[in-house]
Amino acid sequence: MVSVALGAIGLAAVFCFHFPSLLTVPELRALYPVPFIRALLHLVLVWSFVAGVISVCLRHRKILGMTGIGLTLVAALLGGSRVPLDGELRSGPFLGLDWFVLNLIAYSALFIPLERIFARRPGQDVLRKGWRTDLVYFFLSALLVQVTTLLTMMPAMTLFAWASSARIQAVVSSWPFVVQFVAILVLTDVVQYWVHRAFHRVPFLWRFHRIHHSADVMDWLAGSRLHLVDVAVTRGLTYVPIYLLGFAEPPLFAYVAFVSIQATFIHANVRFHFGPLRWVLATPQFHHWHHGAEREAVDKNFAVHLPVLDRLFGTCYLPGDRWPASYGLVDGTPVPPGYVRQLLAPFKSRTPGV
Ligand SMILES: [Zn+2]
Ligand SMILES: [Zn+2]
Repeated sequence: MVSVALGAIGLAAVFCFHFPSLLTVPELRALYPVPFIRALLHLVLVWSFVAGVISVCLRHRKILGMTGIGLTLVAALLGGSRVPLDGELRSGPFLGLDWFVLNLIAYSALFIPLERIFARRPGQDVLRKGWRTDLVYFFLSALLVQVTTLLTMMPAMTLFAWASSARIQAVVSSWPFVVQFVAILVLTDVVQYWVHRAFHRVPFLWRFHRIHHSADVMDWLAGSRLHLVDVAVTRGLTYVPIYLLGFAEPPLFAYVAFVSIQATFIHANVRFHFGPLRWVLATPQFHHWHHGAEREAVDKNFAVHLPVLDRLFGTCYLPGDRWPASYGLVDGTPVPPGYVRQLLAPFKSRTPGV
């Protein structure tokens, strides 16, 4: 697995060198220390090759080792760590292949050890049931970062431009960083709470959101499983107050980083309890109950950040030290495995109310 993972990352990096305009995020290009990345790429490819050879020698099944060696050889044939930085850099449509590689490295380095040491379910494997499907969601959400950013911002900018006021925006953006950050957190979670609740209670919307709830294993990767319509509607609506009030970029970017990490963390297979703090910020136990396949957990804990919203609106369920016994859909037709089938499933389901 190490060989395959490193071989794939190495090959992706080589592709990024060949097609920087098409495969890298413009905002990140200027930040890359290219000589350092080349040295790192060299190490990654050597490590992938060695791990592949060891795997082929020691394991009965050769497929993983051979795949790792194959990926490394293709990366080497395409230039390896000496790959030229091709093509002039231009703006326009791009795919975030570099964004995917960076996210994969950062999140797996943070969450895989965390889930090993503090596992809620110690026997749960990293490559558990459905990991391929969830990795495709993780891959595509990074790759299509330009598309999802557009889908987030366009509805507010086209439908609510008439309501924006330069005077209000000047006042809000002059507030201290912390005040703006907390204001964004509260506003987005109030909107997100009601959008999320609607996705559960309106049968047509539930068709899309039940894809997220079809994961019957909870870990850091499971949170990625979100239908594109779910992502577009939720993000598009939560961006409306941010757009109207015109927050400054630093607190807004801090919020985007915070929500990305917290949304991943609350799905993670970790047993942290957090004591009284669990009533202040959403924790893994709080969101695991949202995914619980038990009657008392159905339609509970809609907030992403603030459990107080669920207490206020009567949907909070956070019993002492208890965690759900199992996760997934309580009823309805089963969701098929695989990204494409899950993308099409909401448009096909004929079961009433699902
Ligand atoms: Zn939900
Ligand atoms: Zn979730």
